[in-house]
Amino acid sequence: MSRLVDLRNREKPLPRRWLAVALATAAVVIFTLGLVVQRALRSEPSALQPQGPAVSGARDFLPACTVGDARTRFRSYEDWDRTLLDTRLRLPATYEPSDLISTRKAGFETATPIRRLLIEDLAALRAAAEAAGNPVDVTWGYRSFRTQRWVFEYWSKRKGRDATLRTAARPGHSEHQLGTAVDFKSEGALNVDAGWRYEPAGVWMRENAWRFGFVESYPLGKESVTCYAHEPWHYRYFGRKLAAEIQASGLTTREYLWREANG
Ligand SMILES: [Zn+2]
Repeated sequence: MSRLVDLRNREKPLPRRWLAVALATAAVVIFTLGLVVQRALRSEPSALQPQGPAVSGARDFLPACTVGDARTRFRSYEDWDRTLLDTRLRLPATYEPSDLISTRKAGFETATPIRRLLIEDLAALRAAAEAAGNPVDVTWGYRSFRTQRWVFEYWSKRKGRDATLRTAARPGHSEHQLGTAVDFKSEGALNVDAGWRYEPAGVWMRENAWRFGFVESYPLGKESVTCYAHEPWHYRYFGRKLAAEIQASGLTTREYLWREANG
């Protein structure tokens, strides 16, 4: 504005009408920019922002992503395929399956513990991914309550607690404590990030993992119902039959399990 006034003083002949047009144009531009910025801020994913009940299906009674420490309803070792964990629901600290074995038994290079009950399907998935030209390996299987506490504290110190709440579960809230969640990566890669969804192995997993009983827990665009940021590498085992049902439902695992428990 001050620059405009300077110009006026220096170059007298600038007609008033032109000035009015320029000011009106500037006002329109500023107003439009304001709208754009407001929209962008509104669409910013904020997984832990409390969400009201959504419009249809399971979302009618899906609770908001609040941070709490309620014991989840189904928490025996036999309930592994219906135990619901999120930012509020958790397992007891003592939950530690006794049938953990190494992922090496499924032919993977990396050794990490998983429950015995998923070894056959995990081996079949590994072989199918390799046959399709997209060999995968694993990074994490089972994590104890104590290890999860260490993981959460590690990231909290680096990124702050609020940011960490969106990307890591607090102890007791992690699906890794079930011994049936597996983090994958491309074979030979050190690790993967959110961009893995676009890599051939990540795409193959998203399209095929359910055929072997594994479902992606935190899909892209579903952050407000899963309570966590997108993790293309994190899959939870449900067995082939249930995984096919979840896949066909179009629901996230949190929505599906909540509907089964309360519907
Ligand atoms: Zn994971």
